[in-house]
Amino acid sequence: MVRDFAGLRALVTGGGSGIGRATAELLAARGALVAVLDLDPAAVEKPLLGFRADVTDDTSVRAAVAAAAAGLGGLDVLVNNAGIGARGTVEDNDDGEWLRVLDVNVLGIVRTTRAALPHLRESAYAAIVNTCSVAATAGLPQRALYSASKGAVLSLTLAMAADHVREGVRINCVNPGTVDTPWVGRLLDAAPDPVAERAALEARQPTGRLVSAAEVAGAIAHLASPLSGATTGTALAVDGGMQGLRLRPV
Ligand code: NAD
Repeated sequence: MVRDFAGLRALVTGGGSGIGRATAELLAARGALVAVLDLDPAAVEKPLLGFRADVTDDTSVRAAVAAAAAGLGGLDVLVNNAGIGARGTVEDNDDGEWLRVLDVNVLGIVRTTRAALPHLRESAYAAIVNTCSVAATAGLPQRALYSASKGAVLSLTLAMAADHVREGVRINCVNPGTVDTPWVGRLLDAAPDPVAERAALEARQPTGRLVSAAEVAGAIAHLASPLSGATTGTALAVDGGMQGLRLRPV
């Protein structure tokens, strides 16, 4: 395993589960000191540091980021990964649901980034990676609110990258497709026949299988690594070819 994060300090939001947890573990395996910020840090195991915070609460975000930076001795990498989903068309979600999802998925990134930037500017290898989604640009049915939130994450990533490039802070995002995490597990469990639903979901993927959390973690680590020092303002698809390939039924 390449030790490209040796001596670097990383904070992963939503790091208690799924993509965030896989990312925290991969960065640690590649040499980073890692802290995790989550609503539920109980799942976090040593040597990762766990901090409880809600990304919709600016006070708790500031406290957790300060504690993480103090515990790690600074910050080089921020992974803005915490997020929640929503189903439906514009007629299905009320204003409260819209504000709730935008608060977590978009403003959550704004809050953690605002709190982390003073620490990141002190780093020689500063990088932020946001977990976006294929939903940002794919035009998925029944995902109006979620897609709008991830569209905002994509444009926020590009704008922040422009604002902070001369400060030496690289900012990119990953666009996962359908990833086999507890989140997707919950959606499948809610279906009348979870086994058949999983098979149908897999059949819709160009690769014939779901993306793994470890594969998204690999892409996040790639963008956060000092080896990617010239990469900023990009979105990396990790979707098993969902968007890049133009497959048609034969
Ligand atoms: P998950 O539900 O397994 O993990 C999400 C984590 O975020 C949980 O630990 C949860 O406690 C935490 N979290 C949620 N709200 C929070 C808040 N307000 N404050 C702090 N922590 C909070 O989900 P996942 O599948 O690993 O998703 C992670 C990210 O990946 C999300 O941003 C999601 O939109 C994105 N994504 C997921 C998929 C997928 O198919 N699973 C696809 C594309 C993008």
